[in-house]
Amino acid sequence: MCYGAGVNRIIARYHEIALKRGNRQMFVRQLVDNIGRALRGTGIRRVKSAPGRIVVALGKNADWASIRERLPKVFGIANFALAQRTERNIDDVTDGVLAAVEGRQFASFAIHTKRADKSFPLTSPEINAVIGAAVKEKTGAAVNLSHPELLITVEMLPREAFFSLDKLPGAGGLPVGTSGRVVTLLSGGIDSPVAAWRLMRRGCRTDFVHFHGAPFQDRASQEKAVELAKVLTPYQFESRLHLVAFGEVQRDIVAQVQRPFRVVLYRRMMLRIAAAIARQVGAQALVTGESLGQVASQTLENLTAIESAVSIPVLRPLIGMDKQEISDQAERLGTFETSILPDQDCCQLFVPRHPATRMSVDAARAAEVDLDVSGMIEQALERLEVVSFEFPQGIAGKIRIELPAAAPA
Ligand code: ATP
Ligand code: MG
Repeated sequence: MCYGAGVNRIIARYHEIALKRGNRQMFVRQLVDNIGRALRGTGIRRVKSAPGRIVVALGKNADWASIRERLPKVFGIANFALAQRTERNIDDVTDGVLAAVEGRQFASFAIHTKRADKSFPLTSPEINAVIGAAVKEKTGAAVNLSHPELLITVEMLPREAFFSLDKLPGAGGLPVGTSGRVVTLLSGGIDSPVAAWRLMRRGCRTDFVHFHGAPFQDRASQEKAVELAKVLTPYQFESRLHLVAFGEVQRDIVAQVQRPFRVVLYRRMMLRIAAAIARQVGAQALVTGESLGQVASQTLENLTAIESAVSIPVLRPLIGMDKQEISDQAERLGTFETSILPDQDCCQLFVPRHPATRMSVDAARAAEVDLDVSGMIEQALERLEVVSFEFPQGIAGKIRIELPAAAPA
């Protein structure tokens, strides 16, 4: 076993969902479900909701290394720690803590108690004082409440107690599945995977749509989109990538529209096709990686001309971010390396180096009058390819999920 004797639980704590009173039940259910899903195949026995936290029971041979790698991708978790369960009395908790700190070197420590059970005879500060005195006597370490080298967290719940020694940061955000479904336009670039991640972090499941230049360009951009979708899938467990051959749509636009206006018109067609896919998959919004002023197509005028092609909301979570901030986020996310691989971006097909920076909605509509817009959408949808992704892959779950009882109104 790769963790200390007696350590047989993981406690995952959440912040934000505690605030969402009306929806709390739904959030906790989804978080319990998502944790169970993320940890499939790691040897956990059970996931249950306890007041204010989720408790994961570990099997004898649970794989802590994998658990530790996967849990930071589960949105909704503020922090998590390996923990030991004991009886709900101060002597058992103290004995457990003393055994756990045995052999560990630390000059200072703090005890932080949370009492979900207010009927417990000692208050939190009293529990801190009792256990703290025992640890101090046994180890000689000093109490340091502001910057302890070792933080010992004690949780008194109604029927049991837990303590844990090393708290790890969680991903924050809201559990995926609590905020509905969106469709992200995933190019092979740096920005759009970050945009998708931001929406997933706010609880959305997302489908991905990638437009490629077939039959006029090679498969490089599609391979990048596949790779990016793979990296993003552990955050939502299942993904679909819709691959749209866009070359012929572009050719039709080129035949009718002057060079400087082509990028805006390409984008309007992309949004229309993505909106049709959104209707098919029951998504409520589109997501792009646009950031204000980053390139010619992302001026306020052009963004307005682009989004006026559809009635579904277009979400742009990166609109106020600098390229450097987005790139840093992409590095942390693990998409940067793939995003910077060379490819043929279909938007570069048949466009000038300096496209129009200010196209009005009226000008965009006027430029499209001779295009068979609905025919083009239909054609693109007919040839749609869909790739599915799953994480963890193909592992049947044998994990018991215990959901909270119906909440009192
Ligand atoms: P990115 O790094 O996301 O490609 P970018 O800075 O290159 O962004 P643009 O290429 O102008 O910006 O694209 C703006 C947004 O339009 C992208 O973030 C993406 O959401 C969408 N988009 C652009 N090209 C494609 C494409 N080929 N397939 C799907 N979406 C696209
Ligand atoms: Mg791009």
